[in-house]
Amino acid sequence: MTTAEIKQIQALLSIPKQIIIVPHKNPDGDAMGSTLALYHYLKANNHNVYVMAPNDYPHFLKWLPGDDTVLKHDTETEHCNTLLHEADLIFTLDFNALHRVGQMGDVIAESQAIKVMIDHHQQPENYAAYMFSDVTMSSTCEMVYRFIEMLGDQDNITTDIATCLYTGIMTDTGSFRFPSTTSETHYIIGKLINAGANNAQIHNNIYDTNSYEKLQLLGCALSNLKVIPELRTAYITLSQDELNRFDFKKGDTEGFVNYGLSLNNIIFAAIFIEHKQENIIKISLRSKGDFSVNEFSRQYFDGGGHTNAAGGKSDLSLSETIEKFISILPNYKNELTL
Ligand code: 5GP
Ligand code: MN
Repeated sequence: MTTAEIKQIQALLSIPKQIIIVPHKNPDGDAMGSTLALYHYLKANNHNVYVMAPNDYPHFLKWLPGDDTVLKHDTETEHCNTLLHEADLIFTLDFNALHRVGQMGDVIAESQAIKVMIDHHQQPENYAAYMFSDVTMSSTCEMVYRFIEMLGDQDNITTDIATCLYTGIMTDTGSFRFPSTTSETHYIIGKLINAGANNAQIHNNIYDTNSYEKLQLLGCALSNLKVIPELRTAYITLSQDELNRFDFKKGDTEGFVNYGLSLNNIIFAAIFIEHKQENIIKISLRSKGDFSVNEFSRQYFDGGGHTNAAGGKSDLSLSETIEKFISILPNYKNELTL
């Protein structure tokens, strides 16, 4: 983002505006952390602001400050569409293409509002008047911190803003362990703790609020784990029946895919989860090193994301999807073998 663009955004924000902030569908910690942080920041600057999510998000994010104000487009469609059409500004956070918000995408495209993208995913679409896109960033939350800093307001970060930003940086970096975590990320985390983010409490709220059923579901997922050592790949399946057996709730499978990657010598991990209602298999892919799961997912599973973390989907059955996955792997023999 250029200095001239920042000046223009400063001018836009110098008078109260109607502003909508949008995370991607099935929002994660970074999506909700970044949108709610920006919400608190803009509200403190006298704007009329709403966070509008395409759909609901897991219970482990429901304690974030401002959570009770979040609108959900899928259950409040008419009201949300009116607000989108009346908005002066729409911020789209933590996604790179309007199809990532589902049906809401068409309404955003039609709205006359000035659009601002803040995002760290690869190959961003060109729908926004202002684009702050940087794929080297650990998280959209880190970018929102820098955005506030570019606007000269880093000393006005409240405890609520800091709490939201800390949460998204923590979840998108796997608790500060992924290669996207830089000294700058840790510097910002230090600033957020100084601004009032309670780091121990935030870790507890996100990671230590599991239900007994969720841990049983994890046990099931781990017993389904398959390893293809010669291609340094591991994958997990979960059928709809298994999800039902353990009383699956949204977000319960978050992080399961990483167990495959924790195996010695494994550099590519996947999880395939059957969603009978939507008639799709939802796929999460993770890798270590240069093997790009973003490219893999774009090419074969109608998805995308980052080099080391991506998602996608399949319209085939669970077993057919696994067959397809296994048949593709040898194409990547060079990347996957030592
Ligand atoms: P997850 O596997 O945790 O759902 O997603 C991993 C990363 O890939 C996240 O950054 C997420 O935003 C992105 N992602 C997940 N699903 C999709 C998808 O269907 N399409 C695209 N383009 N990105 C996705
Ligand atoms: Mn993110």
